[in-house]
Amino acid sequence: MTGELERWGFKWHGHDHGTHERMADGYWTPWHIANDLIDRQAAEIARLRGVLEAIEAGTIPRPVETPWFPDGRPSKHDRCQHDVWMYQACEGCTDAFIRQALGDHNG
Ligand SMILES: [Zn+2]
Repeated sequence: MTGELERWGFKWHGHDHGTHERMADGYWTPWHIANDLIDRQAAEIARLRGVLEAIEAGTIPRPVETPWFPDGRPSKHDRCQHDVWMYQACEGCTDAFIRQALGDHNG
């Protein structure tokens, strides 16, 4: 997504007409291509901000691996897949959340 902008230039065909074409050394980018890149980057920044806010607030998703109550109702004594209490921060869950966010970006 952070690839280079398409660069365009004007190629003359004779003295009285020419065409706009992609050129490695072109000096401008059509506005809709640049605008699309800006929109995609803004969406990515918003998504990553959401990831950071969830980490800071401690609200990342943490699937329960070992429930405290036999009937499965939620408890602060539930444990995640890394065998950490739900009332304690879990580095493994945070790492998994970050890896997923980075995977979403690359995929
Ligand atoms: Zn965990």
